[in-house]
Amino acid sequence: MIDLKDLEYTELEPFFMEMGEPRFRAKQVFEWLHRGVRSVDGMTNLSKATRAKLAEKSFISTLSIREKYISKLDGTIKYLFELQDGNCIESVVMRYKHGITICISSQVGCRMGCGFCASTIGGLYRNLTPGELLNQVIFAQEDIGERISNIVMMGIGEPLDNYGNVIKFLHNVNHSAGLNIGYRHISLSTCGLVDKIYELARENLPVTLSVSLHAPNDAIRSQIMPVNRRFPIAELMRACRAYIETTTRRISFEYALIAGVNDSLEQAEELARLVKGMLCHVNLIPVNKVEERQYEKSKAQTVRSFQQRLLDLGVNTTVRRELGSDISASCGQLRKKVL
Ligand code: SAH
Repeated sequence: MIDLKDLEYTELEPFFMEMGEPRFRAKQVFEWLHRGVRSVDGMTNLSKATRAKLAEKSFISTLSIREKYISKLDGTIKYLFELQDGNCIESVVMRYKHGITICISSQVGCRMGCGFCASTIGGLYRNLTPGELLNQVIFAQEDIGERISNIVMMGIGEPLDNYGNVIKFLHNVNHSAGLNIGYRHISLSTCGLVDKIYELARENLPVTLSVSLHAPNDAIRSQIMPVNRRFPIAELMRACRAYIETTTRRISFEYALIAGVNDSLEQAEELARLVKGMLCHVNLIPVNKVEERQYEKSKAQTVRSFQQRLLDLGVNTTVRRELGSDISASCGQLRKKVL
């Protein structure tokens, strides 16, 4: 049985033609799927016979809200979604002036092993399917009753470690017969899988690439991010430059400030040298305390000085506003609690 939401639009057409159905069936069904239809039987503009044929070989995946928290501070909503096999993932809905953004998960768990991150603690269970990636957007949108206009892939998991499914999802969520979310309204965050960054650049999808840098040199980065032993900073920066050149898109670098680890002024200068001349933006984030980890966030004054030094050196940089701090909105914390 296949999940109809796992098929790209371009795969739905041959799928129906093989069933002896007209090509336009693809568009009808695709529209239903993205409007959140729960079952083949709910597609009421298809004949009974067609629905019966379809139900024999396919199903429509759903997910359910297991827990939901709304921040009293800023209205941020955190969902713990349960997948049909009982696994749980997290998604977060945030309100900005420019529209509603959802942060989605890309895997159940993660195998990247970053030392400060809650999502990776239990390792990787499995990849999310294209349908499960999409369902986070569909079901959150239905729950809030308003259009979601932006997506960030910054939840649980490493999107480039689930490459094929993520690309399918991006094609579908962007499709005009579906949710029609522009690629420029989608950000994909990676810990730095260099080979996949080159591959992504060739897909010709103008999504914003966000790179989790978090350290200005290999010694520190390898200590907090094991992926750096496979893809050191010089290779990562080369891939980022190539991405910018191919896509002409600005990259953003995420830099979580950890007290006493990566937040000195010398390290700000080292970071400035690293990104010098690149079309990029540096996002500073005081690291979120994770119970199991020893890392503490930098003091507010340290964050300000670090940012000021970058600005003085001509680096475009902002400090990320913390949303949903009263509902443990940062990724991986809820799922871990229920595990
Ligand atoms: N695997 C991808 C996307 C998921 S993590 C990536 O690594 O980019 C999303 C972002 O949250 C990454 O920048 C990640 O490094 C950061 N992050 C993880 N744990 C954090 C914590 N405790 N405090 C602040 N940022 C954290």
